Amino acid sequence: MPYPTQPTASHFINGQYAEDTAGAEIPVIYPVTGEQIAVVHEATPAIIEQAITTAKVAQKAWAAMSGTERGRILRRAADMIRERNHDLSVLETYDTGKPMSETLYVDATSGADALEYFGGLAGSLTGEHIQLGEDWVYTRREALGLCVGIGAWNYPTQIACWKGAPALACGNAMIFKPSETTPLCALKVAEILHEAGLPAGLYNVIQGTGAVGAPLVTDPRVDKVSLTGSVPTGRKVYAAAAAGIKHVTMELGGKSPLIIFDDASLEDAVGGAILANFYSSGQVCSNGTRVFVQKGIKEAFLKRLHERLQTVVMGDSMDEATNFGPMVSERQMNIVQSYIEKGKAEGARLVCGGGRLDREGYYLEPTVFADVKDDMIIAREEIFGPVMAVLDFETEEDAITRANDTEFGLSAGVFTADLTRGHRVIAQLEAGSCFINSYNDAPVEAPFGGSKQSGVGRENSKAAINHYSQMKSVYVRMGAVDAPF
Ligand code: NDP
Repeated sequence: MPYPTQPTASHFINGQYAEDTAGAEIPVIYPVTGEQIAVVHEATPAIIEQAITTAKVAQKAWAAMSGTERGRILRRAADMIRERNHDLSVLETYDTGKPMSETLYVDATSGADALEYFGGLAGSLTGEHIQLGEDWVYTRREALGLCVGIGAWNYPTQIACWKGAPALACGNAMIFKPSETTPLCALKVAEILHEAGLPAGLYNVIQGTGAVGAPLVTDPRVDKVSLTGSVPTGRKVYAAAAAGIKHVTMELGGKSPLIIFDDASLEDAVGGAILANFYSSGQVCSNGTRVFVQKGIKEAFLKRLHERLQTVVMGDSMDEATNFGPMVSERQMNIVQSYIEKGKAEGARLVCGGGRLDREGYYLEPTVFADVKDDMIIAREEIFGPVMAVLDFETEEDAITRANDTEFGLSAGVFTADLTRGHRVIAQLEAGSCFINSYNDAPVEAPFGGSKQSGVGRENSKAAINHYSQMKSVYVRMGAVDAPF
C-alpha cells in the first residue's frame, strides 16, 4: 500500500536520499491493519560515516551564518510543513497508527511550531558584555557542533523537529535516528528542511535499531546527544555519552500523578483524566496514569468516566471520526496486555475495557482500574498504553506524599476549584512539566522535560537554547600586562 508522500529511500544524507541495501531490512508495519507498507534498511557503517563526515563539514559554514539567515530557513520550512500538513499527517498515521483526528492537529503542526519559534529566536542569540574597570569580558554564544538526536516511536515528526529546530537555530548540525518502529516521518522533515534552503549535510536521518544509535553516541566527533526514550535506554545512552563528556538531553519515561480534589469540576476532571490517559492510545510519556481521586468525588468520577468512555470511536485511523487508534506495534500491544493481566491478578477493580478489539490491527480498549494500591505493579511501572489506575486519597498531604513516591518525575497535574491549593500542591510535586486544571498541553513556548529519573535538560522554550549552545568568555585587557617575572 505505497502512499504517494512516502520517502523514496532509507536515509537522508548530505541533502539527498541515500540507500545502502547491505543494511538489514526493517519492515514498516501499519498498526491499523498489521500490513507491511514499506521497508527501510538499517544504516551500515559506511552510511554512518558518510553522515558524520558531511555533517562535520557543513556545520562550520552554518555556524558562521547570521542567526537571522539561519532562522529564515527554519521559518520557511515551518510554512512548508503547514502547507503539506494533510499529507504529513497521513504519513504520521501510517507510521504510528494514530488517528487522523490527532495527527492533523498535533504532529506536523507542533513540528512547524518548533521550527517557527526557534527560527524566530535564532537572530536574537547573543552573548553579553561585562565591564571590569578598563578591561572587559565579552561572551559569545556558540554552537556545540554535531548533535545526535535519537527518537521514540510515539511522535516521530514532532520529536524530529523538537530536536532539530533548536539544534539548527544555534548553528549545529544534526544526525537524527528515528525509532526503527516509525522510520518514515523524520525523512520528510529532512526533505522539507533542505527544500526550504537548508545547506546540504546539516540535518541527516539514518535508520536503525539501538545498534546504530550506540556508535553515534560514542563517536568522538559527536558533541551532543539528545534522546527521547525509556529510562533503561536513557541510563545506557547517558552513561555512554558521559564517557566522552558529551552534552546530553534526556527526555525519558514517567508514571505521573494526576490529583483530583473533591471541589474540582467533575466534567473537567474527567476530561483531564481522559486526555492524561487515552490520547494517542495512552502512548504519551507525560501521561498522568496514577489518578488520585479524593474520596468524596470518587464514585461520581468513576461513573462519569465510564459514561464518557462509551462514546469513544475506535476504528480506522484514516477516518476522521475515529478518535482512538491502535497500539504502535504488536509488541507494544502484548506488553500493555500483560500489564492489564497483572492489574487483574493484583486485585485492582476493572471498571471498563481490558480487552483487545475483535478486528485486524493492534487495538486495545481504553482500560480503567479502580481501587488501585500504591504498591501494585500497574501503579509503579510505566505501561505506555491506555491503562488508567485510579487510587483513592483523603488528605492533601497524603496525596502529595504518595504522588512523589516514585523514581519518575516527568509530569504532574492537579484539578481543584481552589487555585491557592492548586499552586501549593504543584509547588510540592516533584515533576518537570505540570498542569493545573488541565493536562498534557505542550506549547513550544513552555519548557518540557522531567526531573528525577525522567530526564536531564529541557526541550522547547528559551531553555532549550542553553542545551544546544555553549558560552565562550573572552577577557580583553586594555593596558599593559603585569607579569610577576
Ligand atoms: P526506547 O528507549 O526503547 O528507544 C528510544 C530510542 O533509543 C529508539 O530510537 C531506540 O532504537 C534507541 N536506542 C535503544 N538502545 C540504544 C542504545 N544503546 N544506544 C542508542 N540508542 C538506543 O523507547 P521507545 O522507542 O520504546 O519509546 C517509548 C519510551 O519513550 C517510553 O518510556 C516513553 O515514556 C519515552 N518517551 C519519552 C518522552 C519524553 O519527552 N520524556 C516522549 C516520548 C516517549 P530502536 O527502538 O529503534 O531499537
